[in-house]
Amino acid sequence: MEWSPSFSFYAEGTVAKNPIVLKRFTSLFKAAWEAIPESDRDGIVGGVGRPIEVQFRDDHPKLSRGPSGDAAAQASFQCGAVEIIFRSNWVEGISEATGKYLISHEMAHVFLWTHDPEHPKREYAVAEKEVSDHLVQRWGFLETAESDLRVELYLLNNEPVHSKKAGVIQP
Ligand SMILES: [Zn+2]
Repeated sequence: MEWSPSFSFYAEGTVAKNPIVLKRFTSLFKAAWEAIPESDRDGIVGGVGRPIEVQFRDDHPKLSRGPSGDAAAQASFQCGAVEIIFRSNWVEGISEATGKYLISHEMAHVFLWTHDPEHPKREYAVAEKEVSDHLVQRWGFLETAESDLRVELYLLNNEPVHSKKAGVIQP
């Protein structure tokens, strides 16, 4: 499957003028997408039914919503449209494995939403557990690696994927 028509990429802010960071993000995104089993990629593309908007930017008010008030990424679902906003500050210092993990985490939210529209409405910790289980059980992340990657994100960005206040991680 061609990967690019499934997404609509958009960069804004100082990062939009930084080709090195843009290239690294695109490369991590492509690697994360291609690591997802093909049947689940088809499920995401078919389930969403239109290009997923991927925003890459210095900051956005939606990243300050949620339990942490300081998320590295946020997927949102409105009227059948899916948008994923990634904050750019983590890209330069992150390892390949952790960068792919962060992107896969958001894609798992999208996959779960395509199968159950109630997923984003669940209590935060419950939705996060569904994502962790999905990553471990279907997308091949080792359970130990999953928690290690969360620790690395915390150390790098002073936050796990979305939140340190939700008690997802105890570094
Ligand atoms: Zn999450």
